Amino acid sequence: MADPDCVFCKIIAGEIPSFKLYEDDRIFAMMDINPFNDGHCLIITKAHAENLLAADPNDLAAVLPAAQKICRAVEAALEPEGINLVQANGPAAGQTVYHYHTHIFPRRLNDGALLNWGHAPGDMARVEQVYNKIMAAM
Ligand code: AMP
Ligand code: ZN
Repeated sequence: MADPDCVFCKIIAGEIPSFKLYEDDRIFAMMDINPFNDGHCLIITKAHAENLLAADPNDLAAVLPAAQKICRAVEAALEPEGINLVQANGPAAGQTVYHYHTHIFPRRLNDGALLNWGHAPGDMARVEQVYNKIMAAM
């Protein structure tokens, strides 16, 4: 189940150190070693799966309760002005480690993180066309 070349599998196996925040049957959470803001941390599935598309739904179901627990602690400890959950799938999404993880990303007002996009009015014909395409694949 573990991938011998995967850095997160090595962390779960205890072969690489981490600042562990939380662990249960399915989930492991730790500090990100390259934090954007203080409190930036990661929730990873214990089972190796490349990303959201490959992950076991039962593992994914354990992610949000763990995220809530950690976010509450981050909120109490650091009082950020906001928290994003960020989860990248594939290179254009910025995924660099190919083992499922969700970032807990504390925000500060005007911190300049390039996560927020403006709300330009959508082309409804195009939205509908894309909607139909996704629904056909559901
Ligand atoms: P992503 O770019 O969304 O795939 O996120 C991967 C994250 O893993 C990055 O924010 C890295 O800083 C983080 N990361 C990589 N190696 C480690 C490690 N050994 N311990 C903790 N975080 C790590
Ligand atoms: Zn892995």
